[in-house]
Amino acid sequence: MKHLKTLMAALTLGAAMVSTAVSAAEGYVGIAMPTKSSARWIADGDNMVKQFQKAGFKTDLQYAEDDIPNQLAQIENMMVKGVDVLVIAAIDGSTLTNVLENAHAAGIKVIAYDRLIRDTPYVDYYATFDNYKVGVLQANSLVKGMEARGKGPYNVELFGGSPDDNNAYFFYNGAMSVLQPMIDSGKVKVLSGQMGMDKVGTLRWDGAVAQARMDNLLSANYTNQRVDGVLSPYDGLSIGILSSLKGVGYGSGDMPMPIVTGQDAEVPSIKSILAGEQYSTVFKDTRKLASVTVNMVEAVLKGTEPEINDTKTYNNGKKVVPSYLLEPTTVDADNWKSVLVDSGYYQESQIK
Ligand code: BGC
Repeated sequence: MKHLKTLMAALTLGAAMVSTAVSAAEGYVGIAMPTKSSARWIADGDNMVKQFQKAGFKTDLQYAEDDIPNQLAQIENMMVKGVDVLVIAAIDGSTLTNVLENAHAAGIKVIAYDRLIRDTPYVDYYATFDNYKVGVLQANSLVKGMEARGKGPYNVELFGGSPDDNNAYFFYNGAMSVLQPMIDSGKVKVLSGQMGMDKVGTLRWDGAVAQARMDNLLSANYTNQRVDGVLSPYDGLSIGILSSLKGVGYGSGDMPMPIVTGQDAEVPSIKSILAGEQYSTVFKDTRKLASVTVNMVEAVLKGTEPEINDTKTYNNGKKVVPSYLLEPTTVDADNWKSVLVDSGYYQESQIK
């Protein structure tokens, strides 16, 4: 009873706060981001706050440090504070079903940000990049890097993202659309035999987990042979993979560093590319993703349709979520400056 009273008091307070908030601004947006351990999500949060505020919205930005209960509590708290819209980059895409049912009951709109939210009808729109294409770009770059060194066949090992992140499957499937035919023809060999997201996934996108797996792959399969390339879906994993490779002598003497891919164009990885270690990454402009999201929020609050460009790809288990897909770009030692510095995303002094 005491709890109920406290809850009611909180809800009334929340309601009072909404009415003031809404009269003072275009609306109140709760932004739930997964973690600050990766710079890209910090940029996402900062860009959204900047752009939402410029458009007249009030924001509440929270990071959950990759802890699922923490993210749930943050979202519930945003609801108590009276947000009109939730923008969520989920840690685990399948754990938000109940909380979003409550959000729906409270009339709160929901935008899935970058990562699809699964198993709920209560997600209005999805703002993201062409995730399948990210994987295609990664594999194309891997192949390009290896071809520049020789005719093959190439020994390649595969890494996947977190199995609870819907994107991880899109990245992997996109990459395999390029690599599987080469595996079938014998041009690419995976000496460990480890293929498929169930074998190559990396829980929570954890670089230490990737490093440990790379250590094992090297000691079990590459004592007499060289690895030529590693498909890595994220810069944070690439860094772990590269340390493992360096640990057994790659990148020095007559052992060239294998071609290693990545994603997010994070500063340490751009530096690694310039140092001749990581080969490439995939840049996804978080300023553009923030802008697509602001447009979606403006539209749902006005009751109009936001601009979308995909109504087929993202079935979340309950519905196909109407989406806007942005274009990802490969970045390597040749184009980093034009893509990242000339566009104003980074200053050259951050890299060099
Ligand atoms: C994002 C990637 C990111 C990964 C790890 C994915 O959902 O789309 O950009 O590298 O999560 O944070």
